Amino acid sequence: MRIVVLAGGIGGARFLTGVRATGAEVTAIVNVGDDVTLHGLRICPDLDSVMYTLGGGADAGRGWGRAGESWVVKEELAAYGAEPAWFGLGDKDVATHLVRTRMLDAGYPLSAVTEALCARWQPGIRLLPATDDRMETHVVVGDPDRAIHFQEWWIRYRAKLPARRFVFVGAEGAKPAPGVLDALAEADVVLVAPSNPVVSIAPILAVAPLREALVSGPGKVVGVSPIIGGAPVRGMADRCLRAVDVPCTAAGVGGLYGARSAGGILDGWLVDPTDAGTAVDGVRVATCPLLMSDETATVAMVRAALELA
Ligand code: GDP
Ligand code: CA
Repeated sequence: MRIVVLAGGIGGARFLTGVRATGAEVTAIVNVGDDVTLHGLRICPDLDSVMYTLGGGADAGRGWGRAGESWVVKEELAAYGAEPAWFGLGDKDVATHLVRTRMLDAGYPLSAVTEALCARWQPGIRLLPATDDRMETHVVVGDPDRAIHFQEWWIRYRAKLPARRFVFVGAEGAKPAPGVLDALAEADVVLVAPSNPVVSIAPILAVAPLREALVSGPGKVVGVSPIIGGAPVRGMADRCLRAVDVPCTAAGVGGLYGARSAGGILDGWLVDPTDAGTAVDGVRVATCPLLMSDETATVAMVRAALELA
């Protein structure tokens, strides 16, 4: 079976461990809207979260970055007063960004760079950026309007600056990375990971030809809710949903994605038993415990999503 998964960082990575365990041929299409250049380094947080997690190198407690990390480079940069100081740049992580930046500077597209990095990490799935084109999520805040990079809003301001809207800079005209359209055209099932709908999944769908291929593809599309009982399981998705006027509920996010038969993307929507009774027009809803507490629980979620498909 061929499964394509749309994924952000931490929620996407955890979910993908369960998808990989099914033994299917898995392609993950990963958000690049979080990508940022800091201290001259190109950083791809969501791709790296997925790569490190599936490659067994992630810090499980923190959820992002490398296990056994040290922070000498970050401290030394701070000693120079080099801004920004708010980004968590671990020493081991820096090596990844150095290799990536050097390859990008040499002219390799991000998809090729990702493949090269994965030669070390052997994630057991195919990892594709949504696009090789430069695309970044910016957040319009304040009065008068000013736009800041998503990472600054998320990490520096802990998503507490009221967001007026999110802009996916570069999405217009962005082309899906090589392999993305083929994967969608050949998918038996497409799963939307329980990732942040506003800043992880929406920027993937903002690549117009990718969204079209998803909607017109042969595989059933099933989403998994990142919201349980009216709250994100972790993170600050509630603040993102507020900015786009969507209720922070399983029904709200299901409605945001919408039915494939009505211009949206979903055929099925998987919610937690806490949210039994959730209805989304034109979408078949099923329930399954959605806490990814360990791989067994995550695999059960994936099986329920595949059954729904
Ligand atoms: P990020 O890019 O690192 O922020 O990660 P994602 O966008 O992939 O995932 C963040 C989302 O994952 C948050 O909205 C969480 O609610 C959701 N999430 C995290 N852990 C779980 C879990 O165990 N179950 C479910 N259903 N959602 C989760
Ligand atoms: Ca992210």
